[in-house]
Amino acid sequence: MAKCHHCGREVKAEDTVCASCGIPLPPHHADKRRRTFIPWFIALVIFCFVMMWWLPPNWTS
Ligand SMILES: [Zn+2]
Repeated sequence: MAKCHHCGREVKAEDTVCASCGIPLPPHHADKRRRTFIPWFIALVIFCFVMMWWLPPNWTS
């Protein structure tokens, strides 16, 4: 849940203005955490695939 930077009240992700004080909210104010998390997750998946390809496949022996 995002918070208004002016009054501190909670605002919805789809809101463009704060419902409490009416100040305009910056675009994508609610998904800052998600946008930084996804590249890290993709990098981790790619790293796992690279390690699976790079390491010798004798884990079950
Ligand atoms: Zn506000």
